Amino acid sequence: MGAASFAACVSAQSNKTKSATSRPVTVHDLRIGVHAEKTRIVIDMDGPVRFQRFALIDPYRIVLDLPEVLFKARSRKFVKPSGGVSGYRFGLFQPGTSRVVIDLVEPRVIEAAFELPPRNNRRFRVVLDLKKVSRQAFLTSSTESIRRRLTQRRREAAPVSKAPLTRHKPRQTGGRKMIVLDPGHGGVDPGAIGASGIYEKTVVLAAAKTLKRILETSGRYTVKLTRERDVFLKLRQRVASSRAADADLFISIHADSIADKKLRGASVYTLSEKSSDKEAARLAEQENKSDIIAGMDFSDETPEVTNILIDLVQRETKNRSARLAGILAEELRNSVKTHRRAHRFAGFAVLKAPDVPSVLLEMGYLSNPKEEKMLRSRAFQEKVAVAVRRGIDKYFKDIQSAQRVDVGSRR
Ligand SMILES: [Zn+2]
Repeated sequence: MGAASFAACVSAQSNKTKSATSRPVTVHDLRIGVHAEKTRIVIDMDGPVRFQRFALIDPYRIVLDLPEVLFKARSRKFVKPSGGVSGYRFGLFQPGTSRVVIDLVEPRVIEAAFELPPRNNRRFRVVLDLKKVSRQAFLTSSTESIRRRLTQRRREAAPVSKAPLTRHKPRQTGGRKMIVLDPGHGGVDPGAIGASGIYEKTVVLAAAKTLKRILETSGRYTVKLTRERDVFLKLRQRVASSRAADADLFISIHADSIADKKLRGASVYTLSEKSSDKEAARLAEQENKSDIIAGMDFSDETPEVTNILIDLVQRETKNRSARLAGILAEELRNSVKTHRRAHRFAGFAVLKAPDVPSVLLEMGYLSNPKEEKMLRSRAFQEKVAVAVRRGIDKYFKDIQSAQRVDVGSRR
């Protein structure tokens, strides 16, 4: 069945009239049934929505783009794959578009897609039957589906999310320093999933809001967040956001997970081609996959930012980032548990703004049950925030006195 006919049969109304006149549709559940000849995926929702589907390779994924919907269903990663499926994720991809990503461990294509009306206490359902195919067949099907999706995208309105991120507004901070905080992950990319099931994206958004409040209360800083809600942002958009705000500092906030569940403690990372240690390298690799995790993006590349390469990072920015990281690591060490090596470095894509000193704050590891509990608590988030504010205060004082010395020595 072709995409066009599928879209037509699944959609009763165009998504414009749907979102304008009624509440968004809720996706309640996603179920997987394994049969000998196929894997059946059933998505329970309130009613029909129009959506597009496509497939991505390396790793194998099936992606469904829907108009903005509410997700009651939870994202899941399976310990053991079931019917070729290793998990699925839901979330807002960009304003107006929600996304479902089905992670596969083997090449499988949608053999049939149809809808079932509500019946016998069952909700409206969308059914997808996945059939195992060769890698080559998957590739062919994937290429075709992406081509269709691209055509579709061109017909859709211009992406809403880009405008505020790339427009350069004159900065009005009334003498206050501009700080951009970047809660990691979001939307279709949950980040790490904690021992109790909490998502990194949720923990870091709360932490960023706490830090914003504590920084702004000082009266010395204006703080912007790259995201204020549960929405996916590309790494490139996060970088662009700090540059558009003409930020004095950029702090990306994370709480990742790691194979060694015993490991605990906060770290501060700066950008480097070479990694300080294996674990830092692995973490950067994991973080840089965020865009892949969320699935392909079809909006146009912004050359301004894509051209930013690691070797263009200016020396001054690098020095300042390192100085900030050193101070933050020290302040954190005085108030919370830190990694034995609190300032580390690796090739994080999100730290690549050439002109904004940038660090990545890893508040702790969600993979450690004890630390997970702490990371969720407001008290701990405030403790971290106060330490970070002290560090930032110190950093700006340092820079000011360094500049004074500079001017003095030239006389
Ligand atoms: Zn993260």
